[in-house]
Amino acid sequence: MGIFSRIKQAFTGEEPESSEQEKYDKGLEKSRKTFGQRLNSLFANFRTVDEDFFEELEETLIEADVGFETAMTISRELQEEVKLRNVSDPDAVSAAIIEKLVDLYESEGENEDNSIAQAESGPTVILFVGVNGVGKTTTIGKLAHRYHEEGKKVLLAAGDTFRAGAIEQLAEWGRRVDVEVVRGPEKSDPASVIFDAVKRAKEEDYDVLLVDTAGRLQNKVNLMSELDKIKRIISREIPDAPHEVLLVLDATTGQNALIQAKQFKETTDVSGIVLTKLDGTARGGIVLAIRNEMHLPVKLAGLGEQMDDLRDFNAEDFVYGLFKGLVREQPAKEEAETTEE
Ligand code: GDP
Ligand code: MG
Repeated sequence: MGIFSRIKQAFTGEEPESSEQEKYDKGLEKSRKTFGQRLNSLFANFRTVDEDFFEELEETLIEADVGFETAMTISRELQEEVKLRNVSDPDAVSAAIIEKLVDLYESEGENEDNSIAQAESGPTVILFVGVNGVGKTTTIGKLAHRYHEEGKKVLLAAGDTFRAGAIEQLAEWGRRVDVEVVRGPEKSDPASVIFDAVKRAKEEDYDVLLVDTAGRLQNKVNLMSELDKIKRIISREIPDAPHEVLLVLDATTGQNALIQAKQFKETTDVSGIVLTKLDGTARGGIVLAIRNEMHLPVKLAGLGEQMDDLRDFNAEDFVYGLFKGLVREQPAKEEAETTEE
């Protein structure tokens, strides 16, 4: 079923929801409310679809963090459509906007692989990068819990030796979810801790090694060259590792998250994104921006601070959660139905 019809069905209460969907829904409640309120007040304030309307629409979309390019594309395409179909009623445009966002989201995501890569043999090594406070250590704890529950042998590497308390924080997660942690003294060389961890993962047949890193060193250049060094040490021991370099981004920081993504992508081979704190933000639209402008797959979503609050990112469920309940009248109904598979 096409996602647009799912959104419509949810609106009319026809579709039963899975618990997975409920989790997304709860996590996205704030985003949806804000986004919905903004769109609704936009529609309420305009009697006709004119130039001002589109300017306001662009602003609304940008404020919802869908990204500048995305906002402009949607506005441009809608203007063309409005001309073509000769509509002037804002309500008629409402459904079309959501349809456009969903379309765009789906086309950008074509052939996207958001599963986590696994080693063909030997340990799978996943490196976590990102600035301080975004949720790297927490995500590692949650993912360690998931793999441990699946019966995998999991090892953690406390590679953030720079920040006071960071090693103990990871060690605490290790105790909580019952997995081993390789650690060194504070301020020691992270490369040596990570080297020890990779060696141990190989020698003792671990299935997964999750590597924590510092989010901040003396400066950005240092941080990037440190990450480079860490990657080289890992691949010297296991040639096809790291199998994933996951950039962790805090959804509550909105456009800042996008800037961080740009900076890391320029200097590191990021293979995917973990978007955290989606439970505490009205800025869920940032996912659209990251996907459409960075062309990086969002692989995991953080929906809380507990060990169970991590989800594989499912684009369709996400978009559905974001727009559910937004479609009011359905003047674009016929078009929507013909676009279903
Ligand atoms: P790091 O510096 O990147 O390692 O970030 P931490 O893992 O230490 O996380 C920083 C703070 O964000 C902690 O208080 C976490 O509990 C919190 N946090 C991490 N992920 C999430 C999430 O998905 N939702 C919420 N609400 N808080 C989170
Ligand atoms: Mg940390």
